[in-house]
Amino acid sequence: MPLISVAVPVPFLDPLTYNVPDSIALPPIGARVRVPVGTRTLTGCVVQHDALVEEGTDVKDIAEALDREPLLPATVVDLCRWVAEYYVSGIGDALAVAMPPGSRGRANAFKKQRVAMLSVLGSDPGDGATQPAASPHHRGLTPRQEAALAVLAGASAGLPVSALRERGVTAAVLAGLARRGLVVLRDEQDDRDPFERAAMADVVPDAARELTDEQQLAAGELFALADAGEFRVALLHGVTGSGKTELYLRLAQRVCGAGRQVLLMVPEIALTPSVAALFRGAFGTRVAIQHSALSDGERHDQWHRIRRGEVDVVVGTRSAVFAPLDRLGLVIVDEEHDSSYKQEETPRYHGRDVAIVRASRERALVVLGSATPSMESYQNAAAGKYVRITLERRVLDRPLASVRVVNMRTEYADQGPDVVISRDLAAAIAERLVRREQVLVLLNRRGYSTAVFCRQCGDTFECPNCSVSLTVHRGRMNHEDAKGTTRRGWRARCHYCNYSVTVPTACRKCAAPYLEHAGFGTERIEEQLREQFPGARVGRVDRDSVRRKGALAQVLSAFAAGELDVLVGTQMIAKGHDFPRVTLVGVISADVGLGLADFRASERTFQLLTQVAGRAGRGERSGEAIIQTLYPEHYSIQLACRQDYPAFFEREVEFRRRMRYPPFFALVNGVVRGRTFEDAMQQARDVVRRLEPATLAGTFAILGPAPAPLGRLRGEHRVQFFLKGTRRADMRRALLEVAAGMPEIRRRLTIDVDPLSVL
Ligand code: ADP
Ligand code: ZN
Repeated sequence: MPLISVAVPVPFLDPLTYNVPDSIALPPIGARVRVPVGTRTLTGCVVQHDALVEEGTDVKDIAEALDREPLLPATVVDLCRWVAEYYVSGIGDALAVAMPPGSRGRANAFKKQRVAMLSVLGSDPGDGATQPAASPHHRGLTPRQEAALAVLAGASAGLPVSALRERGVTAAVLAGLARRGLVVLRDEQDDRDPFERAAMADVVPDAARELTDEQQLAAGELFALADAGEFRVALLHGVTGSGKTELYLRLAQRVCGAGRQVLLMVPEIALTPSVAALFRGAFGTRVAIQHSALSDGERHDQWHRIRRGEVDVVVGTRSAVFAPLDRLGLVIVDEEHDSSYKQEETPRYHGRDVAIVRASRERALVVLGSATPSMESYQNAAAGKYVRITLERRVLDRPLASVRVVNMRTEYADQGPDVVISRDLAAAIAERLVRREQVLVLLNRRGYSTAVFCRQCGDTFECPNCSVSLTVHRGRMNHEDAKGTTRRGWRARCHYCNYSVTVPTACRKCAAPYLEHAGFGTERIEEQLREQFPGARVGRVDRDSVRRKGALAQVLSAFAAGELDVLVGTQMIAKGHDFPRVTLVGVISADVGLGLADFRASERTFQLLTQVAGRAGRGERSGEAIIQTLYPEHYSIQLACRQDYPAFFEREVEFRRRMRYPPFFALVNGVVRGRTFEDAMQQARDVVRRLEPATLAGTFAILGPAPAPLGRLRGEHRVQFFLKGTRRADMRRALLEVAAGMPEIRRRLTIDVDPLSVL
């Protein structure tokens, strides 16, 4: 009787055991099967053969085998098992990340997608550019049909119907247009290519470009590591603008030349389209792209191209670590310190760390690249576990930006408490505008103002569901009337649960018309810049401004093309960009992250400031950064000014050692949720009490329980505790044992192994 273990996409559920009846051929590991679970039939994935069950257990038959060949390579199934174990999630959760979209249902995931495109009447087939058949003035078209034509006019290759639906174009609208002959609907055969859709310019790599001496040395070391064909981890610590991307490319070419595949991980593809474009230029169609902003159809097609072995290089975000490659030889993790590699929902894995585990199993080389490595990676290099390769200079001997600090205490004393842009920063911006150079302005806080309160009774605007104050966003309609203390029609929104209300003109409690805005975010800075520099063309990049698909690429390319003078934004503008005409970076407040009750606050601040300063002076003209702060003496700020990573590391590592924090001790964060605080606290106490016996072995300690800094979230109260120790396995085992004894707790307990954020 062939027994198999099957993982099903049910949270926290361990694999289940099934029998394969004689009528069905034994499905291989990684194949999908339909299995009965309770009263339902679900699609699961075979994770093990020869499963064992206790004598007398009632084992059900699988209902159906969906794949003859494994959908997932066995190596990826194994990796998912590791992820589930290490991060204490269910294996189904991990497999759900690894599976291509559309693979869960009964339906054939390979079915073709319906694509809509403008009918090409009147187009010139010669240059391939589609002339929209629909001029803007078709008689009798509804506004929604007009809008649909406008969307399609921007996509010469057509768009999947599913993607159009996301943009508000319904099937009925498309059908109407198809009847009029304006739009063609067809089932697309070819794989959808996200490069084309994103209208990404192909960058032709400059083959003739000579590496600098430093690059040459680094390349030599990296090539030797790659040629050895063994698992190694190299930390490529190169200052901003030192030409790391060029090295990634050459190394990738070498590894592909040797017949192995390359995975290039980036924090967020939309933020660094140039890296993807560079690889596309070098490898052509042998590159696949994997990230969550692709439509399901695109992701599905790209995934299957990889699975069929048609690509040499995968460029993707954290989930690309599960890409179904079977000749993996090199994993590059660009900006390895970036916190977006950590998934903040189950399974709470870290893409970089999973990449290292994967590479160790597939004997691949890992290159971690950063100008500001994580404490973990730098410590591993210092301890000799990783090979450290350093690039200390920018290419072509361009100097690093010079950094100046503006003490905002002095500024407030001289100019009053409402100053947002200091005199020094304003003067520097004005200078750049005259010289037609570009400016980046960073404030890592979005919205217009961060709090509203009544000047008479002190009532504040808090989220009814979460313990945070609501952030005020400027409505698009009220762009002009920006004076005065209250603004009709403005929305106050919770950044955690999305609750939103209109900001009233009078206090809800005392009816006084004195509502005051406090704290400022990127929207306010944008407004201030427009007021102060009327001639300047100002753009903004934050989660709010780029919500619409394609909006981010649009503003970034407008900035790159010189159509904007100043770009304001959150940390999104600090990442990896290479805008040669930026000669000034202004930081409105370096202090945004410093107040957080988080032991990584200093590290994050140092990284953010160093990275954003690194955006200046990357072209021929040298750059300058001006950092506004209330704490000019803080070591994160001081050392970021000097862009002295080693000094920062030395200082920070002592703090971590003394406080017994990572990288010296491992942390596990547990959050218990409850309908009342007492309820959550009581449950958390119960969990902690049951964990206590396991601490007697002395490998870990328990801290808490205590109210979480974010005490209420989405209507639930939160109490947290930490396990801190040297052996994660012991902590995991103890947690699993406790959870097994408290079946109800799993739905209310979130476990985060190696947490990045502990709010
Ligand atoms: P990093 O990723 O280290 O910040 P980049 O890889 O973005 O740096 O390189 C910075 C700039 O220098 C880019 O515009 C890149 O094209 C250019 N560059 C890289 N290597 C060389 C080289 N050997 N010669 C000239 N320019 C180079
Ligand atoms: Zn909320």
